[in-house]
Amino acid sequence: MTLSHRITHITGGGSDGWDLFRKARRMIAQGRTVIELTIGEHDIRTDPRILDAMDRAARGGHTGYAAVPGIPELRAEIAARVAAQSGVETAPEEVLVVPGGQAGLFMAHHATCEAGDGAVYVDPYYATYPGTIRGAGAVALPVAARAEDGFLPRGTDIDTAIDGFDGRVGSMMINTPNNPTGAVYDRVTLEQIAALCARRDIWLISDEVYEGQVWQGEHLSPRALPGMAERTLVVGSMSKGHAMTGSRVGWIVGPRAAVAALEDLATHMTYGIPGFVQDAALHALRLGEGFEAEVGAPFRRRRDIAARLLGAQNVVRAVPMQGAMYAFLDIRATGLDGEVFAEALLEEKGIAVMPGESFGRAAAGHVRVALTVADDRLERALAELLDFATGLARKRGANSPPGAA
Ligand code: PMP
Repeated sequence: MTLSHRITHITGGGSDGWDLFRKARRMIAQGRTVIELTIGEHDIRTDPRILDAMDRAARGGHTGYAAVPGIPELRAEIAARVAAQSGVETAPEEVLVVPGGQAGLFMAHHATCEAGDGAVYVDPYYATYPGTIRGAGAVALPVAARAEDGFLPRGTDIDTAIDGFDGRVGSMMINTPNNPTGAVYDRVTLEQIAALCARRDIWLISDEVYEGQVWQGEHLSPRALPGMAERTLVVGSMSKGHAMTGSRVGWIVGPRAAVAALEDLATHMTYGIPGFVQDAALHALRLGEGFEAEVGAPFRRRRDIAARLLGAQNVVRAVPMQGAMYAFLDIRATGLDGEVFAEALLEEKGIAVMPGESFGRAAAGHVRVALTVADDRLERALAELLDFATGLARKRGANSPPGAA
């Protein structure tokens, strides 16, 4: 029996970019000590207050089918939050509760692209992006953002990608604060992207799952730009800001008609998400901004530790660590690419980081360090990484003929 092209081609063949992660896990299983800085998951678990709310809801009987678009209280709470943070008036009918940001991204592409349409995304990208687009039946069109631009995409490069595609383009997806680069898109960049989406008449899919984790600058939702509320689907999540990755709850915010159509998709795909999980999410949101700051505080602290260590040497350069839970490091001065560097660092030092190449070609020569272990372990691991890189760069310098670059 054959399976559909749509699902057998999700990964696009070849490596899925997670080889190093799997190797680190195998080494740990064999008893090796490895400092694991690959995966973007908190080193804390979901707060007991949220779990209590989940337990109360489940034991109180909220275990049957729940409203498919989300329970009214949660839709209203998310609408109020989005309105307060973005300044865009938002009605509960403009909010769809979905089983995590990932499902939101998948559904948003289903909603905006016909089969075979192009869907633009920015490279470096979160690892699932191309597969998400292909899984929705669209064609993944990467636009390389350049290291020298702090990994912000150029309008001209987006235009070139769209012009180079032989067919209709349905959407463009951006992610700010960004995984893996930690970049926070500034207003000028967002305005340029918004104008381009309007001119090309395409949807903007805005992945804002790290909206609460901004360490420098401020988060601006492109939905707040003039004329953009009608063509933007914002994807948000409880995973990162509230340490609820396992609860699988997030949202899509967009125009009423889009949300109503997406509700049809939800009815035929998930039939909603568990009522007790929605009650827990509602409780978590009502813990307020202070709680989100508490969840984000370790990343802010560790980002500052990383900035201090990086500032004391000049071999490894950091892409400005403006947001999210990663440090994205330029290791090109070692002469190695990200994959070889990460492999050697794991083998020789027992430190696991993600090769930039796992996040797209534009990320070559970089590694992503997840700031997700205790401060002292992170500090030790980063210091070793920098020593290792310095040693490589020195060896390279010694081996280079005079005058070689
Ligand atoms: N977008 C980005 C940029 C992410 O990093 C992640 C998770 N790592 C997601 C979306 C999906 O998050 P979730 O499904 O847990 O909400």
